[in-house]
Amino acid sequence: MVSLQIAVAVTIIASAMFLHFRSKQDAAYKVNQTIYDWKIERITNVPDLDITAICLTHKSGARYLHLNNTDTNKFFSVTFRTPCSDDSGLPHILEHLVLCGSKKYPVRDPFFSMIKRSLNTFMNAWTAAEHTSYPFSTQNDVDFFNLLDIYLDATFHPLLRESDFMQEGWRVESINGTNEIKGVVYNEMKGVMGNANSFFNYAINRHLFPNTPYAYNNGGDPPSVPKLSYQTLLEYHKKHYSAKNAFFYTYGNINFEKVLETLQVQGGEDLSWGWDVKLPENRVHVQGPPDSIALDPEKQTRMVVGILVPKLASYYDYLVYGVCSRLLLDTSGPLYQALIESGLAPSLVPGSGFEEMDLIRYQPSFIVGVSGIAENDVEKVWYDVL
Ligand SMILES: [Zn+2]
Repeated sequence: MVSLQIAVAVTIIASAMFLHFRSKQDAAYKVNQTIYDWKIERITNVPDLDITAICLTHKSGARYLHLNNTDTNKFFSVTFRTPCSDDSGLPHILEHLVLCGSKKYPVRDPFFSMIKRSLNTFMNAWTAAEHTSYPFSTQNDVDFFNLLDIYLDATFHPLLRESDFMQEGWRVESINGTNEIKGVVYNEMKGVMGNANSFFNYAINRHLFPNTPYAYNNGGDPPSVPKLSYQTLLEYHKKHYSAKNAFFYTYGNINFEKVLETLQVQGGEDLSWGWDVKLPENRVHVQGPPDSIALDPEKQTRMVVGILVPKLASYYDYLVYGVCSRLLLDTSGPLYQALIESGLAPSLVPGSGFEEMDLIRYQPSFIVGVSGIAENDVEKVWYDVL
């Protein structure tokens, strides 16, 4: 039986980084140069914004973007890919616990203590449907490296005490003989879900983005919060707060080599391992009839990516979609070149692009796919091209 593969509704995370810059200090850096196990992948100058962007990758797979300029307000953030897969609020509760003390700073709330004690101009942490971020900024060099140490220790070496889980996540308390659920996140989300706007926002996402992290309540839906166990939270941290799953970012007039050195020392062993967490993809596999006159019976797999596009408001929109489709898929277009001219696949599937039929459909779509490939080439097409 021939395998037909259709990949539907891809969530595209477009991390468009418009890099800006200045040089001088950066003029000394070169692509492929290695600094503390970090390799410089790309250097981009953006004279209009007086910025130089340096993209680096650690041997563990961790990524780092430094935007260098003369701004004295220095910024750092570490972000982990933390997709939701239920409504328990796991990534949100973990974010709270990370701020509850670490190995080097085993005090109750190192973050909140530093908000008052440091010279920071911004300190925060947040959880979204697919990432958790820990950013800060300061104008003072010493303060910057103090805060950097606290942030790295908090994220890579948090204590994650069970008592903190009960405090921040959820617990059962007996009040006047009745058992009640309590907990900081549990109560916080009761407040959030009591707001009609938030309630409807979560409800519509649940239906708009089924089978993706956006379908879930990333903060935690109160009835689902008590389904989370302490052990699950520990395992989630181990898998998701790893170097390979981290993205580091700095901006401003910073000695970024010193940042790399601090990451190396503070990250220690943790920077040498990691999980590469992938966002779930909505893939559907179907079996179809074999092509009896196929040139190569071993190459009968088809693969298609389909993306829903905004509804057409006018004929002008229709024209724009048509032009984009041709620019991408005509014989000189980048998608055609990458898929067909490269020899990866013999042909596009019929109907690739923006179909004229979409004009009369309520929900238009753009699809692109190839036929006549070997089943083993699916991952190559998926990850390398599409
Ligand atoms: Zn919170």
